[in-house]
Amino acid sequence: MKLITFTNKGIYCPQGKFYIDPWRPVDLAVITHGHADHARWGMKKYLCHHFTKPILKKRIAEDIECQTLQYGEVLNINGVKLSLHPAGHIIGSAQIRLEYKGYVSVISGDYKVQDDGLSTPFELVKCNEFVTESTFGLPIYNWLEVDDLNKRMQSWVLRNQENQKTSVFIGYSLGKAQRVMKAVEGIGKIHVHYSIGKLNQAFEEVGIQLPDYEVPDFRENIKHVAGDIVIVPPALLDSNVIKKIPDAATAICSGWMQVRGARRWRSADAGFAMSDHADWKGLLQAIKATEAEIVHVTHGQTEVFSKYLNEIGIKSDVVETLYGDDDEEETEKEIIKD
Ligand SMILES: [Zn+2]
Ligand SMILES: [Zn+2]
Repeated sequence: MKLITFTNKGIYCPQGKFYIDPWRPVDLAVITHGHADHARWGMKKYLCHHFTKPILKKRIAEDIECQTLQYGEVLNINGVKLSLHPAGHIIGSAQIRLEYKGYVSVISGDYKVQDDGLSTPFELVKCNEFVTESTFGLPIYNWLEVDDLNKRMQSWVLRNQENQKTSVFIGYSLGKAQRVMKAVEGIGKIHVHYSIGKLNQAFEEVGIQLPDYEVPDFRENIKHVAGDIVIVPPALLDSNVIKKIPDAATAICSGWMQVRGARRWRSADAGFAMSDHADWKGLLQAIKATEAEIVHVTHGQTEVFSKYLNEIGIKSDVVETLYGDDDEEETEKEIIKD
């Protein structure tokens, strides 16, 4: 049984006649989540989770045709039973479960098994065939517990407050920024860049509660943010926007911060290894729990990770896709330019 095939347009389900996260225009695109490399422009029709729709509308176009599902709701498409299950990656992110004649395939998109307190927690879905990402598929990637990480971020802010510094967090607009807001909720006034404000609005439209924040106009005088918490996207690192913030202490929030000396991050004062992807243990935990007979490895540490799976007795292969290892960065460029 082949319920999915890997084509030059994307992951295809021939029985259902639809694509999952395609990178070329198709008639029906089932979308795992709102990051730009997974949710692209030009599809005749989109199908995604209820929370992802406002993100697609903001990012792609207001007038796209978009059908939504809740987690667990089953839709029959040409005889294929399709349902979405929480992927825990960002708000609205979903694993796509397909069932046809008793055979089950799950395409997980991007996922993390840690509960970030904001995204619907990852759900383990048993299947015959599993498609996994491998962004952080090396043993060196080991995230702190979310509570520990949040406490470290809070202490950093409190220390900055004592030293009359402004705490400036640098994190992706879609996912990371909202997690930072949640992590520092209640310990200081939060200001976010308008690109983050725009996405926050998309979440609020579908009823997601976010901590209070303000959206200052960075083109104007922003002296009034002194001593507070400011969140800006990575595209603005080293930009004049950050230079305008009075007495700024900067911290980058990214899974890549686990690797010391990453050149691009050198200009920041602090780093927090906060990621929306599963770490090494998380990937293995999720994959083992699926009990899949075959695991297809996409974007990230594909070769090494797939080889390791085969070594521990899980049949695996590498699949070429056009998803980015740094998907959020793509999204970022799009958001900043408009
Ligand atoms: Zn993503
Ligand atoms: Zn991805």
